[in-house]
Amino acid sequence: MNRILSFTSMAVAGLLAQAHAMGQDRPNIIYIMSDDHSAQAISAYGGILSQVFSTPNLDRIGNEGIRMESCCVTNSISAPSRGCIMTGQYSHQNGIYTLVDGLRPEQDNFAKELQKSGYQTAIIGKWHLKYEPTGFDYYNVLPGQGRYKNPVLISKTDREGQTCPFDKTKGTVYQGHSTDIIADQALNWLENRKKDEPFLLMCHFKAPHRSWEYAPRFASLFEGVEMPEPENMYDTYEGKAQYAHIQKMSLENMNKKDLKCELPTNLSRDEFRKWAYQRYIKDYLRCIAGIDENVGRILKYLDDNGLTENTIVIYTSDQGFFLGEHGWFDKRYMLEESLRMPLLIRYPKEIKAGTVNNSIVINADFAPTLLDYADVKKPDYMQGTSFREILREGKKPADWRDAMYYRYWMNGDNIHHTVANYGIRTERYVLTFYYGKALQKAGANEIEYTPDWELYDLEKDPMEMRNIYHEKGNEKLIKELKTKLLELKKQYGDTDEQYPEMKEIEEKYFW
Ligand code: CA
Repeated sequence: MNRILSFTSMAVAGLLAQAHAMGQDRPNIIYIMSDDHSAQAISAYGGILSQVFSTPNLDRIGNEGIRMESCCVTNSISAPSRGCIMTGQYSHQNGIYTLVDGLRPEQDNFAKELQKSGYQTAIIGKWHLKYEPTGFDYYNVLPGQGRYKNPVLISKTDREGQTCPFDKTKGTVYQGHSTDIIADQALNWLENRKKDEPFLLMCHFKAPHRSWEYAPRFASLFEGVEMPEPENMYDTYEGKAQYAHIQKMSLENMNKKDLKCELPTNLSRDEFRKWAYQRYIKDYLRCIAGIDENVGRILKYLDDNGLTENTIVIYTSDQGFFLGEHGWFDKRYMLEESLRMPLLIRYPKEIKAGTVNNSIVINADFAPTLLDYADVKKPDYMQGTSFREILREGKKPADWRDAMYYRYWMNGDNIHHTVANYGIRTERYVLTFYYGKALQKAGANEIEYTPDWELYDLEKDPMEMRNIYHEKGNEKLIKELKTKLLELKKQYGDTDEQYPEMKEIEEKYFW
């Protein structure tokens, strides 16, 4: 009898040890993501705006962990990037090509994998994937883009009996600014979580999305300050492909709602750019100030509750954003400010403080990386690769990728007049094929668009002002890059299946 008891207690002890290994020792994950937050607006990245603005709490994540310098988005627009982050798949694999697509509840995603393995999971804030979030024990999310002021959030309880997609009239209205509300809800969830299980908390701010509405307490920030301008703000697009000449995402295309005043009618293009930029960038950074403050509250919660050591904290954005570079706002293109996502990660147990790394990682890598930390095997459907080793060692393994594949599928956007494109970004070059038929769906003033290429040497021309694609002497380089581009396209299984007219376009314009 005694022997049986002792055997039983040993077995229990063994199970407990196993549970411990599977449970409490696995790190917690707080994944914080903003909407359209460009790396130039985080002082740790040291852009021109850091002369007048700082983000001490965001910088703290990088200073106590790692700052990734070349994190690239695979499709620079909200829903597709969010879908890629959730599934670890490119748009053509998960079906989330454009803003009208969403993550269907039955689709696999990394939160489901973590949940199955014993993590408690929650998402709070902007979801923007159309259907009900799945893989989460708790959610409280904005319907669609959501509101800045007095936002509506929808939780499981609010949704009782509803069908997809979201009905925004069924949520709960919260009084205040969305950034503060979303952080409040995140802290509230942290406080009330089950304390004996590891957790994944995704905290997604709406800010600093257009039209850059900040909390009233930041209204006097930058009063009387002359904001530094990017050196290429008055780009005339000489030598650039046709898309740059027909786009309507320039500072002079901003409206009254964007700039929050009557627009002057007597200014030249460049005078308008100068004037609009000063207003735009101040509003944008006032939104960031609110994010920084609230991230500070979350970091403080971790400190105060002994969670700092065993929690991975990530700060990123769904893509980059133009802050007046080339005279633009918005994203969608492969030019650096739009392609590059800020990525700061802290995990004191494994990441050395103050590390900076330049390896090319992509948003499809996020899911495999987080599963790796949770000791969950990467499912076959994921196309990204864990970069845990890069974070731990501070350098890339010998067999790490030296180029990334990009594809933006939206075509004929009748607000921004942007075109579909795909391309390759290496450590030194970016080569893009702008194939889209512009304004295809815009109705009036339809323009027949001639596909064209751009190539930039990021080492010699980091501001991407000189398209060297048509210059003599680059033929060999272009051939190598195009070959590699086709290899990557094939490797990721992008067969243009959704786009039959591509065959003809590629035959005529690719080589
Ligand atoms: Ca976005």
